[in-house]
Amino acid sequence: AKARVVVIGGGIGGATVAKYLAATATAIEVTLVEPRQSYATCFFSNLYLAGLRPFESLSHGYEALAKQYGITVIHESAAAIHPAVKTVALNNGSKLSYDRLVVAPGIAFRDRALNGYDEAAMEIMPHAWNAGQQTRLLRQQLESMEDGGLFVLVAPPNPFRCPPAPYERASLVASYFQRRKPKAKILILDAKDSFNAQDLFQDAWNRHYPGMIEWLPAQFTGGVTAIDAKTRSVITEGATFKAAVANVIPAQMAGRLAQQAGLANQSGWCPVDPVTFESALQPGVHLVGDAIIGWDMPKSAFCANSQAKACAFAIAADLTGSARFPAHLFNTCYTYLAPDDAFSNAISFKPVDGKLKSVISFISKVEESSEVRRQAARAAEGWYDAFTHDVFG
Ligand code: FAD
Repeated sequence: AKARVVVIGGGIGGATVAKYLAATATAIEVTLVEPRQSYATCFFSNLYLAGLRPFESLSHGYEALAKQYGITVIHESAAAIHPAVKTVALNNGSKLSYDRLVVAPGIAFRDRALNGYDEAAMEIMPHAWNAGQQTRLLRQQLESMEDGGLFVLVAPPNPFRCPPAPYERASLVASYFQRRKPKAKILILDAKDSFNAQDLFQDAWNRHYPGMIEWLPAQFTGGVTAIDAKTRSVITEGATFKAAVANVIPAQMAGRLAQQAGLANQSGWCPVDPVTFESALQPGVHLVGDAIIGWDMPKSAFCANSQAKACAFAIAADLTGSARFPAHLFNTCYTYLAPDDAFSNAISFKPVDGKLKSVISFISKVEESSEVRRQAARAAEGWYDAFTHDVFG
């Protein structure tokens, strides 16, 4: 009988593992468990929020993975993992057996990270940190906001999904306001005292949107402690900020299933082997993507995809005796400051002493010419198409 691999989570990490296993190891039967019929990318969702891309362009189905690669795609949620008997229980009551399991559930929000920010409050002050209905809701709110309104963005503590993304969001929403609501203001209330690529962002905010974006670090405000959805207010230790539109991005941890299955440690994230991505807590179970402790690797789609390939080759080698490849782990990231101004970086990662250490190949600088930035903005579009093809077929 063929060896069976079950992959839980059809996001960037899980879909890539499933595809690369199915494409390269024909002796393995691959099943992908994902509740949603189509996946909407978080990357480029900030362009959608700015009115620069239709929502449909962010959506990707699972047809190619099923038809071209022979993956069994089951649109259900995994409810529990039973590693002792190597089975996964699905929400519909059925069970799947596996020889190896891959878990890639993405992120969850930490309970009680912000007082008052519950499921109901999310429908009034969206996080839009998983792409889909939340992203559309935030776009609708930005569109119907009056000119002169205050947009409050609550930025999360480290570590979190996509370190530059809250600030890219502020930049692109500012570009939208500049075109349509020039009297609007943006206030970023941060849980941190500094942020990713801060020099590049602050330089761009001065050049493109003078006076529109204000960033308040935690040391000034004491940090956001509570939310009052009824009045759409964000509450810090010393002040209350009433928003016309609020985007609240709470503190994060590994997805719920990883917590329930004992795959996360006290940090809330999942420790793994840096070469095979096998869980340090549960043999036979591998994890990739935002849910893991990645050391120097940021929580990005590019990293999830890169980890997924290394993980797929390691599983294939274990189950079929195929050649072991040294892991090539990489991150390339394009970040928009304005529609025709993007910066980029390219970083590789090597296992050193059981951790992943970064080796920087390229990182954008403040002094770059506007032509270089324009080219990066165009290159990003090509990257989006090639990358989503690599993941979803
Ligand atoms: P996800 O892609 O979130 O996938 C997790 C999947 O697991 C989901 O489909 C979910 O439905 C499924 N799932 C969860 N629980 C279960 C369960 N119990 N059973 C079955 N399925 C389950 N990254 C970049 O590289 N470049 C960028 O430019 C970039 N921009 C970003 C902008 C924004 C605004 C945001 C928020 C993120 C951005 N990212 C970017 C980060 C990127 O989106 C994530 O790092 C990436 O999606 C992580 O992949 P993942 O597979 O770990 O999780």
